[in-house]
Amino acid sequence: MINTRILTQEFDYFAPESIKQVVELLERHGEGARVIAGGTDLINQMKEEKMSPSCLVNIMNVKGLRYIKEDEGLRIGAATKLRDVRAYCFKSRYVALYEAISSLGKPQVWNMGTIGGNLCNASPAADTAPPLLVFKARVKLVGKDGERELLLEDFFTGVNSTVLQPTELMVEIHLDPPGDGAGNAFLKVARVGADISKVSCAVFLKRQGRTCTECRVALGAVAPVPMRVKVVEEMIEGREIEESLVAKASEIVSEEVKPIDDIRSSAEYRRQVAAVTFRDVFWKAWDRAIGGKN
Ligand SMILES: Cc1cc2nc3c(=O)[nH]c(=O)nc-3n(C[C@H](O)[C@H](O)[C@H](O)COP(=O)(O)OP(=O)(O)OC[C@H]3O[C@@H](n4cnc5c(N)ncnc54)[C@H](O)[C@@H]3O)c2cc1C
Repeated sequence: MINTRILTQEFDYFAPESIKQVVELLERHGEGARVIAGGTDLINQMKEEKMSPSCLVNIMNVKGLRYIKEDEGLRIGAATKLRDVRAYCFKSRYVALYEAISSLGKPQVWNMGTIGGNLCNASPAADTAPPLLVFKARVKLVGKDGERELLLEDFFTGVNSTVLQPTELMVEIHLDPPGDGAGNAFLKVARVGADISKVSCAVFLKRQGRTCTECRVALGAVAPVPMRVKVVEEMIEGREIEESLVAKASEIVSEEVKPIDDIRSSAEYRRQVAAVTFRDVFWKAWDRAIGGKN
């Protein structure tokens, strides 16, 4: 029977204070070492014996990993708590991220969990991923070979898998500035509030009058990785927005997603709900965009 209450395995534990020390520890302890941030995913996986690291490197005391600042967009330190990101994004130009975190777990989870942990755990249903994808987020990784930055859409490689090397950690998430005439929104469908998503969707767009000049669409829990739907983005960009166009786009969303049957939902249900969710999120983002004369 699965143990969900206690940790049975033994492991070394470190709480370094600098990024350099984290990288050295990861290198010294090899493949068995694991970064731990809030632990809201990792500790559960260890209790369920899905993972048994021989060494945990806690990054919550590391200086320079917890911040939110406006600098050519929004820069968020990877170990910033969900609570702080949520508070910052409320009534900001990044409201889709506020909506995503609000739908994620409960305050206890926001108080412990981090934005970097949500991405590095790489669940297809990670709720911060769709809004970050539509904000064209880039992630900065640091490892023994130095620093690299890549688009978030190139970070995920499969279910619970990413491009992160064993000696690397994520240090920053950088969102593009939204600019004028922009609107964004996020919606999630789950069994009850705060449950893991059956389907989630974020839209970012810009409008001028009735014309959509820029559009990005991302969905979660409908493919092995959180995904952009670029064919729909191209169909909408530069067009006058009418109900019929958005209805057609939502049909294409349901054709493009690659859902599976699992304990939360059937693939067929996810296909249909993806279309409806996209449509609702699109109109919400559209109404939020300030686009001059209508
Ligand atoms: C009751 C409950 C409800 C939840 N509901 C939701 C939900 O609705 N939606 C949702 O998306 N999630 C949900 N979660 C999952 C979880 O809370 C989030 O994914 C959270 O953001 C994870 O962050 P963490 O700091 O706790 O990560 P951890 O558990 O500390 O780490 C997760 C993984 O990421 C790695 N990692 C963490 N930070 C870094 C870093 N900076 N660099 C490299 N690797 C790193 C760890 O090694 C580990 O593999 C829920 C969890 C609980 C317990």
